Amino acid sequence: MTITIDEMAAFCKRKGLIYPSSEIYGGLAGFFDYGPYGVELKKNIVSEWWRFMVNSRPDVVGMDGAIISPEAVWKASGHLSAGFADIMIPCSKCKSAVRADVFIEDKLKKPVETKELSEIDKIIKKNKLKCPVCGSDFSNSTLLNLMFPVKIGNANEGTTAFLRGETTQMIYLNYKLIQKDARMKIPFGIAQTGKAFRNEISPRNFLFRCREFEQMEMQFFIKPGTGKKWFDYWKEQRLSWYISLGVNKKNLRFREHRKNELAHYAKKAEDIEYNFPFGWKEIEGIHDRGDWDLSTHSKNSKQKLDYFDEETKERFVPNIIETSAGLDRAVLVFLYESYDDDKERGNIVLHLHPRLAPIKVAVLPLVKNKEPVVKKAKEIFNFLKEKMVCFYDESGSIGRRYARMDEIGTPYCITIDFDTLKDDTVTVRDRDSREQKRVKIKDLANHLVL
Ligand code: ATP
Repeated sequence: MTITIDEMAAFCKRKGLIYPSSEIYGGLAGFFDYGPYGVELKKNIVSEWWRFMVNSRPDVVGMDGAIISPEAVWKASGHLSAGFADIMIPCSKCKSAVRADVFIEDKLKKPVETKELSEIDKIIKKNKLKCPVCGSDFSNSTLLNLMFPVKIGNANEGTTAFLRGETTQMIYLNYKLIQKDARMKIPFGIAQTGKAFRNEISPRNFLFRCREFEQMEMQFFIKPGTGKKWFDYWKEQRLSWYISLGVNKKNLRFREHRKNELAHYAKKAEDIEYNFPFGWKEIEGIHDRGDWDLSTHSKNSKQKLDYFDEETKERFVPNIIETSAGLDRAVLVFLYESYDDDKERGNIVLHLHPRLAPIKVAVLPLVKNKEPVVKKAKEIFNFLKEKMVCFYDESGSIGRRYARMDEIGTPYCITIDFDTLKDDTVTVRDRDSREQKRVKIKDLANHLVL
């Protein structure tokens, strides 16, 4: 049985994974803080992504760009235009508003086929849809741009810049430098992970739609005319990444964007969707951006952003295939996939892939305050902590301690007892099978498969 998104949010808060941000001051919708186990999980997902997308390939390199950039960048990229705005329907009475496409699709159980404000207003009237907060009629729909402006410098002379709405743009601006400095030849990719910010009209469904979130993006620079081949290639690669980390294939699918929902930069787009309890929803987009980005930045910055192919002696503006994943949505996916309310054990178990687990191994002395056993346990902890993320716990019954580790997905628990002092062995308990094995301390690092 799956749990609702609200129950998942409550579980994450209870277990130190994720908290609503600024909660002691009443909170702020669409912002979250990651707690001690959440931050480890998130870091592990990023490092698996980086390993798969960058470190294991000769044709992709990484970068880390600034979060704030000048207005000119976002004007050129189209993010300050209607292309990066959502249609909002404000309530005529209370101050709330809903995002038109999400709200109407939820109510009518079919996607909205139009981006015309007048058409949206007609749908609202025809179906007698009311404000979900106070039940009043809606006012006419309007566009809300999603970019967050920030003021830089002093109040009088300062300039307006923007928090990035996607991580990608810094990749385009640096592409020539990186191509030259890393001596990359087309086809090649540049990857980046980090924060992005969007002033979403109705942030909801916990981590699914936030105003501050993280993306893991890769731009693959290709020769014009080879788009289809690379688009199909990256679709399969990205799907296989989720599956390799334990996501059940039947909970994943592709969905191609209809012509009228394509983003302003995209020639073709397919989403990888996950079967959340609130429906099939996008977790990652694969986009054929053509030469849109490099051409527009070249035109606006008056810099040449083309590429010279040494072998064929051709000069062209590279086309781009983008893979754009949301890190917070990936966190949700891995939590849903691993969550198991195990009635027999009487506790929740997160069957996370060991590489994603926040803590790899817990070191648990069976007796408290018995100096030689505790000393040995601390010795083992100090030895293992050099190799993996460990946790030391001597409080509570052993059953309680196992349950606490199950609930945050720790794949292994090690108990140390009086026999350990005699024969240098410990008991290793496996999270999923609950099998216990006696293992020599010197063989521990090999026994823990991560
Ligand atoms: P949506 O249609 O759900 O608003 P999008 O199509 O605007 O998403 P993209 O611009 O393609 O999303 O961004 C790429 C990825 O970034 C998405 O697949 C998603 O995983 C993540 N993402 C986008 N917006 C948010 C958000 N508000 N909160 C969390 N993750 C997000």
